[in-house]
Amino acid sequence: MPSTLLPNTYEVIIVGGGPAGLSAALVLGRCRRRVLVCDSGESRNETSDCLTGYLTRDGIPPKEFLAIGREQLRPYGVEWKNTRIVKALCRPDGTFELKSEEGETLISKKLLLATGLKDYWPEIPGSAPFYGKTVHHCPYCDGWESRDKPIVAYALGSVGVGLALSLKTWSPDVTLCTDGTKRVTTDDKEKLARNGVKLRTERIIRAEGKGTQIEQLVFENGITIPCQALFFNLASVQRSDLPSQLQCEFTSKGVVKSDLKQKTHITGLYIAGDADRDMQQVIIAAAEGAKAGININKELQLEAYV
Ligand SMILES: Cc1cc2nc3c(=O)[nH]c(=O)nc-3n(C[C@H](O)[C@H](O)[C@H](O)COP(=O)(O)OP(=O)(O)OC[C@H]3O[C@@H](n4cnc5c(N)ncnc54)[C@H](O)[C@@H]3O)c2cc1C
Repeated sequence: MPSTLLPNTYEVIIVGGGPAGLSAALVLGRCRRRVLVCDSGESRNETSDCLTGYLTRDGIPPKEFLAIGREQLRPYGVEWKNTRIVKALCRPDGTFELKSEEGETLISKKLLLATGLKDYWPEIPGSAPFYGKTVHHCPYCDGWESRDKPIVAYALGSVGVGLALSLKTWSPDVTLCTDGTKRVTTDDKEKLARNGVKLRTERIIRAEGKGTQIEQLVFENGITIPCQALFFNLASVQRSDLPSQLQCEFTSKGVVKSDLKQKTHITGLYIAGDADRDMQQVIIAAAEGAKAGININKELQLEAYV
């Protein structure tokens, strides 16, 4: 049965109402837990019109996907606040204290961070209208839609070689553009050539196209190449500094370390979705959220039944 708790005190607070947070909230709501989801409404794929690769939901607009997820929490009494959590600490008694941007204090026994990542997009003049539409970060999300088209892999040097070769799965016409960075090793140049990938190291001065469709890239020397889709390999970073505030451990890639139960090394603190180290896909974020939800419920059961 649900326990009686003071106002603003929850068994579980979930920070982040994206696929990972929603999925955990569904599991925990169905476990009759007192759950609060806090969400600042900045999901990673917000520039995209179409969520692909999610079983039974292939092609759904991301906003609709989130709205259905939120609607399906309704029967289970999960509480929701549209707010940003700006401070988090683990108290000496092992509970968590959070502060919202409005200054409200919230307490929970367990805390799940499902706060996601944010991307650095290529700073190519003129490319902003194409972000998330024909300029992408993930071939698994948007490769199919770009099949057989002239595709550009964008990265600052040899780090783009793997991406460029991977894009050959979707199109025979792939060019690696390093935007003025000449750091491509001789071995890599030979590998690209052997596998039919073109290489351009000149600085890109402009992306051109119509509406949200990118059509060509213009280099500083005036050369233009066709480009119907551009995929980039640039850094992504934690959207929130809450994992740092709580002193989570990070991998060298800047994602939070967790075990197979989505637990961090801090008792009662869980992490799910893109913010941890697994692959970055909606279906995987949702699966991790469900795993976190079940394991949080089990931990609460163990504490209750002594
Ligand atoms: C352009 C683009 C297109 C993509 N397309 C696809 C696709 O087609 N298919 C696919 O499987 N994947 C796709 N992805 C990847 C997908 O977006 C992520 O894998 C997925 O969103 C991860 O879910 P998440 O719940 O971990 O994080 P997010 O969806 O990023 O959700 C995190 C949530 O936490 C909230 N939040 C963060 N910090 C705080 C805070 N301090 N307080 C309160 N709330 C906070 C944010 O507002 C956000 O709502 C795409 C990514 C991009 C960039």
